Amino acid sequence: MNAAHKKRPGGSRGGVQARPDRRARYEPNNNALPRDWRDRLPSPATYYPAMLPSLKPHGTGWAPARCPFHDDRDASLSVHLGHGGWRCHACGLSGDLVTFHMQRNGLAFADSVRDLLWGSQ
Ligand SMILES: [Zn+2]
Repeated sequence: MNAAHKKRPGGSRGGVQARPDRRARYEPNNNALPRDWRDRLPSPATYYPAMLPSLKPHGTGWAPARCPFHDDRDASLSVHLGHGGWRCHACGLSGDLVTFHMQRNGLAFADSVRDLLWGSQ
């Protein structure tokens, strides 16, 4: 039935092949975030200790650290190593892992997500 379609490229007959350069057309769409970006975010238990040297991890719950968003002499910041939420008891800022990354690096939301997914290290 499909015999007409059965043209297997037997040997190395350097025939006409689609060039991979048509890929370049898709580059502008790289601005779109993957649908499952939330699932691809780094684990808060890995991310926060790397970003906050003063962090004292306590298992997977709330952990104190010096707040990077104000001149903090105490550990006013609490980050949750499970769900990634955070809040500072001194300056009042709060958010989640993405907004932390935004504030810390001065990034817009989508840029922050991209940086978390693919990094710029
Ligand atoms: Zn603060």
